[in-house]
Amino acid sequence: RAQGLFISVEGIDGSGKSTQARLLAEGLAAAGHDVVVTREPGGAPGAEAIRRLLVEGDPARWSAETEILLFNAARRDHLERTIQPALDRGAVVITDRFADSTRVYQGVARANLRPLVDRLHDLVIGIEPDLTFVIDMDARAALARGLARRSGEDRFEELGLGFQEALRAGFLALAQEYPARVQVIDGTRAPDVIAQDMAARVTAHLR
Ligand code: ADP
Ligand code: MG
Repeated sequence: RAQGLFISVEGIDGSGKSTQARLLAEGLAAAGHDVVVTREPGGAPGAEAIRRLLVEGDPARWSAETEILLFNAARRDHLERTIQPALDRGAVVITDRFADSTRVYQGVARANLRPLVDRLHDLVIGIEPDLTFVIDMDARAALARGLARRSGEDRFEELGLGFQEALRAGFLALAQEYPARVQVIDGTRAPDVIAQDMAARVTAHLR
């Protein structure tokens, strides 16, 4: 399908996804790779417009099912406009969240909608990352980090400790479900130590 390398970074809010996506991109770019770093929901103009529909306004505006449709619409646009063109030219694409976030948020933590999530993914997305990093850490510590940070990037960060713990369990379950793709990263270490660990794992994939 693709000539490039497709990497996703997943994990609970405050686990360090955005930090590590940036550090990984910087390291690979310094080593001479063509690198695209992007994010979900969003990552393309249309997908960012859908993101605004999801994160602005009354959180109860959408049903869980409608939310899944909107996430898939955004992801399809992101794939068409940003991810696939970059992979086709041989780039390394690093996305801060991808389909595993929908599997966990909508499929596990919110309601038992995983079958709908999987069917829609097969219909309209159809690709998985070559490599997924789940940055794992204690939900309480991650939540404290998230709250210490800027506020308002998205409402997924305001859902409380119990929800974050359910998400953490969901991400760890995905690592069991997809052992060839998903690697669990200890997110409690210093940022540069985590970055070195992840870069070494990517290098192994590039060989
Ligand atoms: P996420 O994108 O997963 O929500 P961020 O990368 O935005 O997480 O990190 C959340 C906060 O924690 C930020 O303030 C960031 O600077 C800080 N942070 C990220 N990684 C680490 C780390 N390994 N150790 C300590 N603080 C970190
Ligand atoms: Mg982030």
